[in-house]
Amino acid sequence: MQSANVLPPIEIALEEARAAATRGEVPVGAVVTDAAGLVLARAGNRVEEFSDPSAHAEMLALREAARRRGGKWLADCTLTVTLEPCPMCAAALSAFRVRKVVYGAYDPKSGGVDHGPRIFQSTSCHHAPEVIGGVREAECAAVLRDFFAGLR
Ligand SMILES: [Zn+2]
Repeated sequence: MQSANVLPPIEIALEEARAAATRGEVPVGAVVTDAAGLVLARAGNRVEEFSDPSAHAEMLALREAARRRGGKWLADCTLTVTLEPCPMCAAALSAFRVRKVVYGAYDPKSGGVDHGPRIFQSTSCHHAPEVIGGVREAECAAVLRDFFAGLR
């Protein structure tokens, strides 16, 4: 029997973001939940650890969720992430056919959902998830701000 999640998804994503910071990674965390709200995968950035610029939290969580599911699509799933996805991750969210994307902090500089190329609104995007931005925005932004302040 699976127990219900103790924490809301954005809290889990924040935990992953904070854990990433302790590893010296840009603190972004993501979690994939299914239609029942059960956690399929959770991940933080591993760009430095893997020496892989594509090892964003969203990419790792999407791949793990699909692997656990045994299928390529996550059509009933929600991805919750602490920062607005970049264009690469937004394209991946579309490719995995994720139903819904929930994110925390807005990213006017590098975001690809509500800023920059606005991937889901592009004519080459064949699946646009529902998007909810700004969830626990202040807390999600603070994790990033604190990390970069510590680097100075
Ligand atoms: Zn990304």
